[in-house]
Amino acid sequence: MTQPLIQVAVPLPVRTPYTYTATADSLPCAGERVRVPVGRRTLTGWVLPGPASVPDGASLKAISKRLDNEPAFPADVLELAHWAARYYQHPPGEVLAAMVPAPLRGETPLHVLQDRLATTEYRAAMTPPAQRAARQAALWHWLKSMPGPVEREAVLRAGYSAQVLKSAVQGGALIESVRYPWESEHSSLGELPHGLNPSQQNVYESIRSAPAGAHLIEGVTGSGKTEIYLHLTMDQIRAGRQVLILVPEIGLTPQFAARFEHAFGSRVALYHSAMTDSERLLTWFRARSGHARVIIGTRSALFLPLPDAGLIIVDEEHDTSYKQQDTFRYHARDLAVVRAHQRNIPVVLGSATPSLESLANVQRGRYTHYRLTRRASSTALPRMRILDIRTRPLTAGLSQPALHTLQQVLDSGQQALVFINRRGYAPVLTCEHCQWIAECHHCDVRLTLHQHPRQLTCHHCDSRYSVPMTCPACGQSTVAPVGAGTERTENELEQLFPDYPVVRIDRDTARQGRDLPRLLQRVHAGEPCLLVGTQMVAKGHDFPNLACVIILNADGGLFSADFRGTEWMAQQLIQVAGRAGRRDARGEVILQTRYPEHPVIQALAHHDYATIARDELAQRRLHHLPPEAQLVAVWGEGRNAEETEAGLLRLRAVLENLGMGCDGNQITGPFPAVIARKKQRFRAVLWLLDSDRNRMRRTLSHWLQNYPKGADGLPPAFRWRLDVDALETL
Ligand code: ADP
Ligand code: ZN
Ligand code: ZN
Repeated sequence: MTQPLIQVAVPLPVRTPYTYTATADSLPCAGERVRVPVGRRTLTGWVLPGPASVPDGASLKAISKRLDNEPAFPADVLELAHWAARYYQHPPGEVLAAMVPAPLRGETPLHVLQDRLATTEYRAAMTPPAQRAARQAALWHWLKSMPGPVEREAVLRAGYSAQVLKSAVQGGALIESVRYPWESEHSSLGELPHGLNPSQQNVYESIRSAPAGAHLIEGVTGSGKTEIYLHLTMDQIRAGRQVLILVPEIGLTPQFAARFEHAFGSRVALYHSAMTDSERLLTWFRARSGHARVIIGTRSALFLPLPDAGLIIVDEEHDTSYKQQDTFRYHARDLAVVRAHQRNIPVVLGSATPSLESLANVQRGRYTHYRLTRRASSTALPRMRILDIRTRPLTAGLSQPALHTLQQVLDSGQQALVFINRRGYAPVLTCEHCQWIAECHHCDVRLTLHQHPRQLTCHHCDSRYSVPMTCPACGQSTVAPVGAGTERTENELEQLFPDYPVVRIDRDTARQGRDLPRLLQRVHAGEPCLLVGTQMVAKGHDFPNLACVIILNADGGLFSADFRGTEWMAQQLIQVAGRAGRRDARGEVILQTRYPEHPVIQALAHHDYATIARDELAQRRLHHLPPEAQLVAVWGEGRNAEETEAGLLRLRAVLENLGMGCDGNQITGPFPAVIARKKQRFRAVLWLLDSDRNRMRRTLSHWLQNYPKGADGLPPAFRWRLDVDALETL
């Protein structure tokens, strides 16, 4: 009898799965974890669906062990992985590894992992233990008096030893049982706090009546998108389905999850990177068993097993953190649309400032588009004021009218936010005598000066340097900071407004254990204060007493080398502006700029994202850039600029040989990265552009099948990688 063959994906950078033999009476099914020999090692791999073929002349090895005797991957996630591996040209084993919580990449069987999450409970049996076993008897009486079973931990905390417990169970006086967290009952469903207003109702009705398809809700901040999500979620739960909600960063938006927890209680499970492995594993089991009905998570929550999935929601769909920036470089929003399509369920994308990619999909008729142009509360969108700072003297980066507004806001007991997109004390440390500038030894970047602790930091490789007292070039004591980051602005505002607290929120305050939630709590409490923050504050916060937002310098993205610069700047500024005046009073936004006449600044002044998006889309079309064409970045890096360029030119030559670079398909580059040297490696990039994604995918697959290493004769220390739908392109 012939032995059955199976295909196994192993977590290695190989594109084709390996074939192994199994035995007919113990045949693993698709999605199961198995241990397999690879060279001299044994690895945990995943069984793929479909028949395996025998590679030419190879003598096959047998799998070493089945780990679980049940699939760890449901069929639809396997299918998604298959799709993603092809689309992103990434090794299937690495794709699958990225889709599970870390413990599932190891060799501990599922049932063992599961048991570790269980709690052991005790209750008293009918007959008490003998009187002379005094401790056991006391324990029996204690448990007898309890309304229900008591967890092991609680018994031990009450002073009974593990030995007493054990003897009592063995003697038959106690009954031990194991309870899994996903076996607990949910409380009954209440009503949602708000009904929907007519515009929300319209959107809700149309999505509800569409059995499948992608829906884009473009709704200004505070227009009630989250409220629509809540109502759609309620319907799904009542219908016995699960809802997956993706958010950019949970830690920054605790209120969002809290609203769902308030409405759906223990049905809600979270999944994000700040959780421990076992917390994430717990969510994985709860999603898989169907106990969790609403899963709110970041990027990788997309891959959770969801037997009853009925709806996927992607909030702030334009957020770039949905794109994974290393190894398996997927875009969670795009894969969410794929997963929904494969499951034949609806997917809702929401944002105040949709990505051009999604707007282009609306124009192509792929997504249904809804617009909410007003806030759900009666307050209007904040008043936008443009202040020309070419002619106005600045104090701490603030013009006179801005300072005046801050004083008024604080004196009337409200809060204001000063937005500055640069952390640290100052972006440049220079010598006023010889113009020396502090730069990183490993990267082509200027070092940022920080005060707490006082040091120079490279924001690209995280190297730290001490701050020189005298200029390393000329020896004079004329070293001085130029420009301002959040720290300096915080300092200066503290001096200007000594009667009010200044709260800084950026990656450094979040990291330094000056924990963000506590800082935010203070702001939420509503006392008058000044907030200084980077884009971290721009994300989805609801500050009830924030009357005013001042954007210190709006011009950052206007002349960016990055073709997405304007799009990102507009999204960010509109998000920040949206923080002003949410509840009962209209807010105010002051936009300081040196280009008051610029069409983008003018459009921002009218909250007119639609115009900016339309103009940008036209530009992209004209220049054959995303989303008009698909962009695949081929990043190369080497020990020096020559090696990097030589490597990429080799790759380019191979691609051209295979027919790329003509016929609507375009290759440009190589050009050096904006930061050409990073961590002592020299980086450059090739762009592959094609308006036909299928053709792009076929060409790339063809290339990598023929040249698994990319090309022959590449320089020895040259490395390269692909980024399909790259967001980082320079
Ligand atoms: P978004 O998600 O678009 O920013 P939210 O759903 O958070 O908007 O709504 C903004 C505010 O308005 C919230 O405080 C929310 O509770 C309130 N809100 C939204 N919809 C309604 C409604 N139909 N009735 C009353 N309040 C609402
Ligand atoms: Zn000098
Ligand atoms: Zn550096």
